[in-house]
Amino acid sequence: MAFELPKLPYAYNALEPHIDARTMEIHHSKHHQAYVNNFNIAIAGTGAEKLSMEEIFANSSKYPAAVRNNGGGHYNHSLYWSVIGPNAGGLPTGELALAIDSAFGSFEEFKKQFTAAGTSRFGSGWAWMIVKDGKLVICSTPNQDNPLMDIAEVKGAPVLILDIWEHAYYLNYQNRRPDYIAAFWNVVNWNEVARLYKNEMAKLLKEAK
Ligand code: MN
Repeated sequence: MAFELPKLPYAYNALEPHIDARTMEIHHSKHHQAYVNNFNIAIAGTGAEKLSMEEIFANSSKYPAAVRNNGGGHYNHSLYWSVIGPNAGGLPTGELALAIDSAFGSFEEFKKQFTAAGTSRFGSGWAWMIVKDGKLVICSTPNQDNPLMDIAEVKGAPVLILDIWEHAYYLNYQNRRPDYIAAFWNVVNWNEVARLYKNEMAKLLKEAK
């Protein structure tokens, strides 16, 4: 079974004015599609074809760079589309809000640290909030790497992700990455982030038993 480009659950213009329609269309239909195509080419005829993305990432150091780069590109973008959306932004609620306060002191402090992770990553990459040993942690990865990969500096289960490649913002924001990150907070789908957090915590609880 070849991997496929997931359909966006909203229109290309649904995130305006924060993320413009042209950027979303090119990002999804060209960039993400290319990662899917090249990932399928990279794993065709290899044992990786029968594995899940998580299984491939756990051994990413043993695969050619094309598997790591394009597999990461496919996974990271799929996750990114799911944690942003229209009629979103605002504040997290419930267990997730409590966990953010406990890990970072306050939501404002979390926002500051996540923004710093995004602005300070040199070149292309991603900013993340992950669950590591049951706690929320902020990190960033270069290129299309992610925290599920064995080569990652900081490993854990992703719950929030931000694309900081220039292709994610250049048409609207040019070199102003901090402005794009500031706009990102208006489109974060906290319900989905909370769902991912809850799932991961339930998984850890089950494993501990
Ligand atoms: Mn991208």
